Amino acid sequence: MSKDYLSVMPEDFSDFGLSQPILKAIDQSGYTEPTPIQTQMIPSVMEGRDVIGQAQTGTGKTAAFALPLLNGLRQKKKASPQILVLAPTRELALQVADSFKKYGTYINNLKVLAIYGGEEYSGQLRQLSKGVNIVVGTPGRVMDHIRRGSLKLDTIQSFILDEADEMLKMGFLEDVEWILEQAPQQKQIALFSATMPSSIRRIAATHLHDPVEITIRSKTATASTINQKFLITNGMNAKKEALGRILEVSETDGVLTFVRTKMQTVELAEFLTELGYQAAPLNGDIPQNQRLRTVEQLKSGKIDILVATDVAARGLDVERVSHVINFDIPFDTESYIHRIGRTGRAGRTGEAILLLAPREKSMLKSIERASRRKIEMMHMPSVNEVNKKRIEAYKSRITKTLTEDCSFFDDLIRDYCSETEASVEQVAAALAKLVQGNSPMLLEEKKYERREKRERKQPVGGRNNRRSSGRSDEGMERYRIAVGESHGVKPGNIVGAIANEVDMDSEYIGRISIYDEYSTVDLPAGMPRQLMKVLHNARINGRMMKLSREGEKSSGSERFGNRKNGGKPRRSNPKTSRKPRTASAV
Ligand code: AMP
Repeated sequence: MSKDYLSVMPEDFSDFGLSQPILKAIDQSGYTEPTPIQTQMIPSVMEGRDVIGQAQTGTGKTAAFALPLLNGLRQKKKASPQILVLAPTRELALQVADSFKKYGTYINNLKVLAIYGGEEYSGQLRQLSKGVNIVVGTPGRVMDHIRRGSLKLDTIQSFILDEADEMLKMGFLEDVEWILEQAPQQKQIALFSATMPSSIRRIAATHLHDPVEITIRSKTATASTINQKFLITNGMNAKKEALGRILEVSETDGVLTFVRTKMQTVELAEFLTELGYQAAPLNGDIPQNQRLRTVEQLKSGKIDILVATDVAARGLDVERVSHVINFDIPFDTESYIHRIGRTGRAGRTGEAILLLAPREKSMLKSIERASRRKIEMMHMPSVNEVNKKRIEAYKSRITKTLTEDCSFFDDLIRDYCSETEASVEQVAAALAKLVQGNSPMLLEEKKYERREKRERKQPVGGRNNRRSSGRSDEGMERYRIAVGESHGVKPGNIVGAIANEVDMDSEYIGRISIYDEYSTVDLPAGMPRQLMKVLHNARINGRMMKLSREGEKSSGSERFGNRKNGGKPRRSNPKTSRKPRTASAV
């Protein structure tokens, strides 16, 4: 183990001097350790310095500016805008506004408003006139409000340009400069950009005062001895299932699994222990001497899997680590490179597997760029593969036991066979059953996978594929999704995506048929429009599901735009409709 590992203590949010309400909200968000950009940026923003952050989404950059700015917010009787964030898209504006709201949960009367184009002015005008503390907006709409006089910038203390290079690409730069000029001279500016083209540099040089520059980037390439793969999974349960199957089908020695939070290290280690692995958590809350003992146990083979956070695994050097599994994607490419560098050591080869949600795919590109290696896509090991491995492992356990002294049992079985005339095979099978107990030896195909096999025969490759012949069960309706066999979709992906996206219990997900270019799935009849919208936009294997009722045309997102009928589903049958249990959560 390197000295580095011994000397590094985890940093903590409480070290920054943030107020109690903010620390409480951080705690509630489940964040236990600041990300690299947060560690570096929060102190400077708290001091009131201008900052430039060269970092992209996924690094924790929003909290890096939102937390210290919320900390410095001065509440007055009537709220006036003190923080203005400009973001290139409506999605980012909403996301940033939500983050401010989340981190400001315990700040009394905090008013955060997102303003963006494509939405009526009336609501935004009403909110602005009532008074807001923080405005997050897209440049065009912010400009409009300034011109109308509905947004006044004279009280602005902090100005954030988020994803400046994206704003440049979208042609917003002139607007951004115009807005900057309307704000008071005396203001703090934070500029974020994944890249630093010259026009962004020029804005920084013109408007920022002696900025602190923080770059979250990666220079180190990864070793050729590490074989890198990624697997698309969505949601906690799917990730756990994937991890379990990967561990079963892979020839592993020591395994390091990375998660984002301390709590998750404990949860996942418990999950793995339940599966029968020797697993332990490694996080900054565990006393140093115990951490050292855990690492020693990994070295000696007493433990096979460590579940760690980045900070806790810093400098860890254990030769027998054959696999690094990124259960959660790291916050920056440097962390990724650092994480996977824990394998493929001392001339050995290693495997690095990244579990990735479809929405995290953009991060994959950055990682590939930084590690200068292609990361291959892998598929979830199938039930068959897992079972083949289980049988192989079982047989090799028999072979191994045969090399040991079994003479006592040998005599016992011989006696038994002559007394009962049972064959040796029969006795062996009975003993195997005895040893196995009640838990099944093989992984079972899920119901929907069996169903899929029966149903797929006909549709896939057939001529008349346009519609499925069968009718859906009562209370259910047939829906079509734009992802099929040719996109590598499996029933498990469909069930997983639906169950995770709208928190629908899998018992409400009925028959699934997979065709070449699309699939059909039976779901509760008369699904609420909001639910359908979520499923329309959700992705499977990186492709939009574009869910629509079978027979109805899905014409993209406008299908879910403001409709005159008040947004009710076109065909809903209240009598037969079975609402998913948790539908109200969406
Ligand atoms: P961002 O780069 O700001 O888009 O953040 C990426 C994701 O990381 C968001 O989902 C945040 O909620 C999450 N996040 C930010 N900071 C932390 C932290 N210190 N610990 C765990 N998650 C975090």
